[in-house]
Amino acid sequence: MSKITKKLIRYFITIIIPLMLIIVVGSGILMSKLFEKVEIDKLKKTSEYIYSTISVESNSSTNIMLEDSNVKAIMIRDSKVLPITRGNMNIHRNIDLSNLKEKGSLSSKTGEDYLYYKLSTSIGDIITFKSKIDYTNFLISIIKIQSIIFTLGAIIVIPLISLIGKKFTIPIIKIQEKALEIAENKFEGGLNIETDDEIEDLSKSIIYMASELKQKDSLQREFIANVSHDFKTPLSVIRGYSEAIKDGILSQEEVHQYSNEVIEEVDKLNKMVIDIINLSKLQDKAVNSNKSYKSLSGIIDTTVERMSFVAEKKHIDLEVKFQIEDKLILCDEQQISRVMYNFIENAVKFSEEFSRILIEVINNEDGIKVAVIDNGIGINESDMKDIWNRYYKHKKSGGMGLGLAICKEILEQHNFKYGVTSKPGEGSEFFFLIPSS
Ligand code: ADP
Repeated sequence: MSKITKKLIRYFITIIIPLMLIIVVGSGILMSKLFEKVEIDKLKKTSEYIYSTISVESNSSTNIMLEDSNVKAIMIRDSKVLPITRGNMNIHRNIDLSNLKEKGSLSSKTGEDYLYYKLSTSIGDIITFKSKIDYTNFLISIIKIQSIIFTLGAIIVIPLISLIGKKFTIPIIKIQEKALEIAENKFEGGLNIETDDEIEDLSKSIIYMASELKQKDSLQREFIANVSHDFKTPLSVIRGYSEAIKDGILSQEEVHQYSNEVIEEVDKLNKMVIDIINLSKLQDKAVNSNKSYKSLSGIIDTTVERMSFVAEKKHIDLEVKFQIEDKLILCDEQQISRVMYNFIENAVKFSEEFSRILIEVINNEDGIKVAVIDNGIGINESDMKDIWNRYYKHKKSGGMGLGLAICKEILEQHNFKYGVTSKPGEGSEFFFLIPSS
């Protein structure tokens, strides 16, 4: 039996069974009160009937025949007890009749319980009695019937609970098996669960998680392959040039040129390593943000100036359009420069020679919008959601696919909204928003 089924049975026993007992006892008490009221009403009517009979006949007959032979009646007149009905009238000898209220229960000295009704009239007090035995027996039978029904119910319900338990556990076990498969990097295959409830939602989340993990796993593998490749090329260039320099067969001018190449390749490697370290630090939130109020135009101008050399190589014009008055913004200057640098570097990388890149700063309903707009190759709709993921890159990128992932981390840590709009073949606009407050 599954743990869930056992739990359901435990809940049933601890909640339903006490509830059933409360219902049986409660309904017993309620019914006894109701029964008592009905019986006393009947006794009242009987007393009134007796009174009308006696007053019409103007006597105190002791031979009145009553419909219910179990009902006995007496009259107390001038402290004398006169029997009204026939039969065993020893009751009054065993009962203290002096202090009776209008109605209620009483017990005889011999231990018998009665319900009674006392009708005070001009000719004396007419008291009608009925033994409680009938109604006690009736109540006992009702409680017995209820107990049998509940016991039978419980016996039927337990296998039913086990069936319901199975209905819950089968899909849960499927999900558990799938989770174990995912843990072993087996992402393929779905989960055929159609329960139309939270369990189905959970199975969909697990499948979504598997597809995300699969993508991350393949990106990671791709990254390792890319890193090895990206490191291999500069390393073999460095080795080749270094060997040539070591052999001493180069002219002074060639030594100078080769040494520059070696330095450039080393810088490339250095940048890659720094990017990897930076991203991992940002993702671990291990970078201490160094925020202070800085001039926005100052940050933008410095970055554009640094990038102009790269843009010039492709004869690309970098144009800055500052549509607002300069503002001091609370940010980590180095990190926001890094975002601007990445946006502009990508814009240059993915634009044709002799094109134009616009860096625009405008007021927007959400704050200040800083955008880098190019007329380059653009981005396919299907790639839009992936470009901010680490290691995702275009085949012509030449980078490692870490730039936008770093931007995303920085902008999220600043609580700046960000995004991209793009049309393949027409260009892209990468932007972030500095909130007004
Ligand atoms: P990298 O530049 O190293 O490839 P990024 O994370 O900076 O890595 O960019 C990821 C990918 O996003 C790029 O490879 C490219 O496909 C796409 N991308 C980014 N900026 C642009 C742009 N301005 N135009 C077209 N594609 C872009």
